[in-house]
Amino acid sequence: MKSEAREVAMERMERLFDLAEKALPGDIDLSRKYIRLLKRINSHYKVSLPRIIKKRICGKCEIALVPGISAKVRVSSHNRYVAYICMHCGAERHMRY
Ligand SMILES: [Zn+2]
Repeated sequence: MKSEAREVAMERMERLFDLAEKALPGDIDLSRKYIRLLKRINSHYKVSLPRIIKKRICGKCEIALVPGISAKVRVSSHNRYVAYICMHCGAERHMRY
């Protein structure tokens, strides 16, 4: 696959994630729609989802996890991870650091 197409896909995904973040907290449905679109581009172009985006999407209910808006953040210095807890469905995503 041409790298140019991959770059365009990346740009689109970043943009969609940005929009998904901005749709919150007011419009969860719209935010989720952007995330679904993002995932569709992701599978269509077979590119890997940028790590920073992947970790910030709720794996269960597909909304953008924005600290203080749609997610609670908990830091575990003992286990060296940051947990994003979805305020919508309660699912947790852990991020090692
Ligand atoms: Zn969720």
